[in-house]
Amino acid sequence: MEIERHEYDVVVIGAGGAGLRAAIEARQQGKRTAIVCKSLFGKAHTVMAEGGAAAAMGNVNSDDNWMVHFRDTMRGGKFLNNWRMAELHAKEAPDRVWELEAWGALFDRTKDGKISQRNFGGHQYPRLAHVGDRTGLEMIRTLQQRVVALQQEDEKLHGDPEAYIRVFQECTVTRLLKTGDRPGDAVSGAFGYWRENGRFILFDAPAVVLATGGIGKSYVVTSNSWEYTGDGHALALLAGAKLINMEFIQFHPTGMVWPPSVRGILVTESVRGDGGVLRNSEGRRFMFDYIPDVFKDQYATTEEEGDRWYNDQANNRRPPELLPRDEVARAINAEVKAGRGSPQGGVYLDVSTRLPAAEITRRLPSMHHQFKELADVDITKEPMQVGPTCHYIMGGVEVDADSGAASVPGLFAAGEVSGGMHGSNRLGGNSLSDLLVFGRRAGAGASAYVDGLKARPAVSEESVAAARAEATAPLERDGENPYEVHHELQRTMNELVGIIRKAEEITQALEAVEKLKERAKGVGAIGGRIYNPGWHLALDLRNMLLVSECVAKAALKREESRGGHTRDDFPGMSPEWRRKLLVCGASADGSDVTVEEKVQPAMRDDLISLFDRAELKKYITEKELADFDALVK
Ligand code: FAD
Repeated sequence: MEIERHEYDVVVIGAGGAGLRAAIEARQQGKRTAIVCKSLFGKAHTVMAEGGAAAAMGNVNSDDNWMVHFRDTMRGGKFLNNWRMAELHAKEAPDRVWELEAWGALFDRTKDGKISQRNFGGHQYPRLAHVGDRTGLEMIRTLQQRVVALQQEDEKLHGDPEAYIRVFQECTVTRLLKTGDRPGDAVSGAFGYWRENGRFILFDAPAVVLATGGIGKSYVVTSNSWEYTGDGHALALLAGAKLINMEFIQFHPTGMVWPPSVRGILVTESVRGDGGVLRNSEGRRFMFDYIPDVFKDQYATTEEEGDRWYNDQANNRRPPELLPRDEVARAINAEVKAGRGSPQGGVYLDVSTRLPAAEITRRLPSMHHQFKELADVDITKEPMQVGPTCHYIMGGVEVDADSGAASVPGLFAAGEVSGGMHGSNRLGGNSLSDLLVFGRRAGAGASAYVDGLKARPAVSEESVAAARAEATAPLERDGENPYEVHHELQRTMNELVGIIRKAEEITQALEAVEKLKERAKGVGAIGGRIYNPGWHLALDLRNMLLVSECVAKAALKREESRGGHTRDDFPGMSPEWRRKLLVCGASADGSDVTVEEKVQPAMRDDLISLFDRAELKKYITEKELADFDALVK
C-alpha cells in the first residue's frame, strides 16, 4: 500500500495547549506547519483542565509578581525544578494569558473588570486566571480560533487556507524519522497512520515538536483519558533523546472513588480553593495533622485561622487543604490506610457546608454536573468521596529551557511531555501556563532551527521501511489480546510503583514489566486496518511499557522521598539527591533502558538570592549553603 507523503517545515505532534501554541508560533514565523493529533481536533487533555492558568498578574492581590510565583514553583517542586524554566515561566505567563485574551478568550472578571484569579494549592496569592471550572475548554477554543484566523489570512494571501498550517486529526505518529542511526543524526520527519482507515502517512520535515501530553494510561486509577499512553516520551527515547525526572508522578489528591466505572475522574482543586474541606470518617479535618516541617510557617495550624484566611489573606495563613498536591495525596492515602476512610475507600470533601448552593453551582458548575450525573450526589447538599488518582507526570523529554530543543537535532518538546519545569511536583495551574510559555518557545525554537539549516535533512528510506514493518506486525499475528497485557501493566504500576513505593515492590514491578514486554511482542490484532482499536492499543503498548520501565527504574534508583516520589524505605528528603537528575535513555528498539545520574547546574545568583537562608537550609547541602552565605555576605 502507498504511503501518503507530505512536506512541512515544522511538524507539531499534539493539538493540546502546547501543540497549538507551538504551531501558531511556527506559522507566525512563516513556517509551513502541520499539526498532527491522534484524537479529534479539540479533544486533548487541555480541554479537560478545570481550575485555571497560573500567572502572576497581581489582579486580585497586587503583592503578587513573577518572583513570588518563581519561589512558589520551586518550593512546590521541592527545589528540583529546572530553575531557568521556572524563571521563564513565572516571567512570561502573564503575557501569554493577556495574549489569549487578545485572541478572544473570555476569562471571569474581578469586580473592577480585570481577569479574575483564584486560589490554588501552593500559590501564595490568588493566581489562577479561570473561566468557571472550564478554563481548558476556553483555552483550546481560543487557540483553535487563532489557528482558523491564520488559515483565513492564508486563504486571502495564497488562495488556500491550508497553505501554511494544516491539521491532521485522528492520525497517530508511531516513529520519528531521522537521517540515520548514528548519534548526532538529525530528525527528518515522522511516520504514522490514520486511525480511521489504517493508511500510512509520512511527514518529511526538518523539525518536529513533541506536544503529546502525559502517560496516565499506564495506571488503573487515573484522571487521564485514552490518548495519554506516553507516546511522545517513547518517540523521543527511541529517537535517541533523553528523559529526566521520570520517577516523579503526580497523584492528584482528589479523584472520584465511586462508582467504579468513573474511579479516577478528577475533582478539581478549585473545590478546595473555593473553601471545600477534607474530613475522615470520624469527621476530623485531618489535614491539620499533616503539615510537613518545610511548610510549617506558611499554613494555618487551627481551623479558625484557616477559615479566616478565605476572607482575610493578609492576616491569616492558608488552610492545609491547600498544601501542594503531593502532601494532600499522601495524607489521604494515610487516612484510608489507617481505617478512617469513607465506605468506598476515599475521604470526604465537603463544600456544601461552606458555601451557599447558588454559589457552588456558579463557581463549580462542572463539578456539580459531574457528581449529579455520574454518582447521583448533589454537592450543594452532601460531601463528595474522593481519593488519589494518577494525574500528571513531571518527567519528560530533557530540553533546553529557552528553545525547547531536545538533544537530537531537529527535535523539540513542550508541555507535559517535556521535563524539568515542575521539578518533583507541579503546582496546580502551572501546567496551562507552562503550555503557553513553552509551546510558544518551542515553536520559535523549531523555526529558528529550520532557518539555520544549510540543507534539508533527508528521510532515510530504511527507517521508513522499519517503521512500516513495526506498525503492521500486530495485524499479521493471531496473538494475545493487547487489552490483557495493558490491564496487567496498569495493575502492576498502580500497585507496585504507585503513590508509596519501596525497593522490593519496584523490583517486582520491573520483573513484571520485563515479562510484559516479551508478551507484548506476541500480541495480535487481526481484523484489518479499518478502525481497529485493538491494533491501535497494540502499538501504544510499546510506548506504555517503555515509559513504565523508565518510571520504575528511576524510582528504584532515587533513594529518597521528594514530591511525586515517596519511598517507604527512604522517607526523608536528601539534599545530596536534590542536586541530581536521573536521566533515562534507550536503545533504538527499546530493548535496553538505562538510567544515569546527572548533577543539575547550580541556581543563578540573582535567583537563589530570592530565598531566605532558613528556607534554603531545608533543601540544600552544607556546601551549597556556604556558597549562598558567601554570596549574600
Ligand atoms: P494535551 O492537551 O493532552 O494534548 C496532547 C495531544 O497529543 C492530543 O492532541 C493528543 O491527541 C496528541 N497525541 C498524543 N499522542 C500522539 C501520537 N502518537 N500521535 C499524534 N498525536 C498524539 N492543569 C492546569 O494547569 N490547570 C488545571 O486546571 C488543570 N486541570 C486538569 C484537569 C484534568 C481532568 C486533567 C486530566 C488535567 C488537568 N491539568 C490542569 C493538567 C493539564 O490539563 C495538562 O497537563 C495539559 O493540558 C497537557 O497539555 P499538553 O498540550 O501537553 O497535552
